[in-house]
Amino acid sequence: VNYTASEQWLLDRFADMEIIDAHTHLPVERVRLAEHTDALTFYRQYTRLVMFSGGLDETTFLRIHDPDRPLHERFDLLEPHLEQIQFSSAGRAATIALERFYGETKLTRDNIERITQKMGELHRPGVLYRTVLEDACSIRQLVQNAPPHEVDFDDRLLRPVPMIGIGGEWNEFNDLAESLRSGEIRCNSPDEYIEDRKERLIGLARRGAAAFKTTSHPYCEPDRRNAREIFDDLRSGRAHRTSRLTPNPLHCYLSDALFAAVEQLGLPVAVHTGVWGDFRESDPTHVIPYIQSHPGLRFDLFHMGIPSVREFGRIGANFGNAWLNMCWAPTLSTTMVANALDEWMDMVAMNKIIAFGSDTRWPVEKVYGHLKLAQEAVATVLGRRMDRGLMLAEEALSVARKWFFENPAALYRLDHRLGRSVRPEAKPNAATVRHAD
Ligand SMILES: [Zn+2]
Repeated sequence: VNYTASEQWLLDRFADMEIIDAHTHLPVERVRLAEHTDALTFYRQYTRLVMFSGGLDETTFLRIHDPDRPLHERFDLLEPHLEQIQFSSAGRAATIALERFYGETKLTRDNIERITQKMGELHRPGVLYRTVLEDACSIRQLVQNAPPHEVDFDDRLLRPVPMIGIGGEWNEFNDLAESLRSGEIRCNSPDEYIEDRKERLIGLARRGAAAFKTTSHPYCEPDRRNAREIFDDLRSGRAHRTSRLTPNPLHCYLSDALFAAVEQLGLPVAVHTGVWGDFRESDPTHVIPYIQSHPGLRFDLFHMGIPSVREFGRIGANFGNAWLNMCWAPTLSTTMVANALDEWMDMVAMNKIIAFGSDTRWPVEKVYGHLKLAQEAVATVLGRRMDRGLMLAEEALSVARKWFFENPAALYRLDHRLGRSVRPEAKPNAATVRHAD
């Protein structure tokens, strides 16, 4: 890539700048190492979305990543799709990581065995995360969104962010419905469920949870009676409306109460917005009423609300308790990120933007590729402003430091010097919340 002199100057400085990965799905290293890995793992996550858009079907995708099949046979299935995605941001992230760790710019029939063998040398306990995350990326801590069995609250690098308990994952509401139907959840009312969940959130906060995670949904005024009706329908197995384009009163009632509980704990809430499937369901603008009705709760909004990046920026500009997190976004479109970030700079305070979250699960090496794309987008925006005389070089560097490190460290109260968390007091009060930022 040919960069301008200013962009290159910034990128050279970024090379050893300390980084917080503000959103990852990586499990603790022990869990990741127990899983199968080979050269094709580079094309398992996120590149698949671009491949699906080009016609790859789910069955072939599963075959490509089925370790019981011969590597070459699987590569033959993958190869026609590699050409289609090579210029996409996700494809570039894979190429950058392949080159950095294995000295290859593309996968070929001839190099897949060799790369797989080299991966075996890197994928060892105490080596993989240190080499990729700490040495190559200069990451000091990662804010981790993973299932409970992939989390260790005492891990030096990973700070857990458990699900809030409703509407966090795509199927979480359906899971709740199923658990009520099957009698696995033995609560008799939405309020009983809320009390039960609150206890859990307090327990998780005491163990060191950095925040709680959920997803943006259409919102309505919380109403106990309407919520109760749906709750009873779910318990008795009666059909209920599942469209996510209109508000679900039970979901709204539970979310509102659990947001209040997280606010009490003095922790932020991380909110997925945009991107997937029918992205209208998780539009970032849905969160606005929650942001307004919980002014003491800090919202870390994820993924730039892609494709609604402009509305997303305006939310950060209008509300002091909403942060703009670029996690995953540069891998979706580095260009969209650079354009939007430039607009955000015009209207949002510099302490509100978080420039990096790799959002990676399987291809650990690709955290590096995702980081390089985020750094490229930031260098493009700041470099252009340096060239126009809008910023001094040192000012640009100081802004980048905020975006890549200081802002996420402050929002999630990370302590980089110790390489571990500063745990919240057992019962933080409202004053701590307001002074935390
Ligand atoms: Zn994610």
